[in-house]
Amino acid sequence: MSQLDSILEFNKTFVESKEYEKYQTTKLPNKRMVIVTCMDTRLIELLPKAMNMKNGDVKILKVAGAVVSHPFGSVMRSILVAVYDLNADEICIVGHHDCGMSALDADSILHKIKDRGVTHARIDTLKYSGIDLEEWFQGFSSVEESVRHSVEMVENHPLLPKDVPVHGLVINPETGKLDVVLNGYK
Ligand SMILES: [Zn+2]
Repeated sequence: MSQLDSILEFNKTFVESKEYEKYQTTKLPNKRMVIVTCMDTRLIELLPKAMNMKNGDVKILKVAGAVVSHPFGSVMRSILVAVYDLNADEICIVGHHDCGMSALDADSILHKIKDRGVTHARIDTLKYSGIDLEEWFQGFSSVEESVRHSVEMVENHPLLPKDVPVHGLVINPETGKLDVVLNGYK
C-alpha cells in the first residue's frame, strides 16, 4: 500500500470514530502568539509541548532553519496576516541546535540537483536571469546569529506595528530546553 493510501485509510477511521473532537478549537490563537520555527522532524511534537502550546493556542509557521529570509516573502506575509487578522500580538522566532540549515552547502545541493536530472543549461538560465542560487541555498554558521537576523527583519518590517514584541529563542531538539537570544519586551 502506498503511503498516501495508508494515510487515507487511517483518515477514514479517524473521522468516523470522531477522533477529531478532542482537537476542536477556533482559528484564533488563544495565546495570541505567532511562532516561526524549523521544519525539523524532532520538533513536530516536542516544540509545542516544551512551550506549553496545544491545539488552538498559537499560529505556527514552519520553514527550514526558522529563517525569515525575505521581507516580502510568504513567511512575513503570514506573520502580518496573523497580527492584523487573527489577533496575534506577539512573535517568537525559534531556531534550534543541530539544524540542517547550519550545515547546508549550496554547492552540494546544486550537485544533487544536477544528479537528479536538472540540466546545467537550466541552472545557467536561472543564473543569467539574476537568480543567485548559491545565495538562496546558503545555510547559516551560527543559529543564534540567524535567529537574531530574522528577529531584526521582522521587528523592523515597515508594516509591523511597533507595539508587537518579537522574541528570538533557540531550542534544544533533544531536551526541548529554550535559550533566549533576544527578549522582545526589552
Ligand atoms: Zn532545523
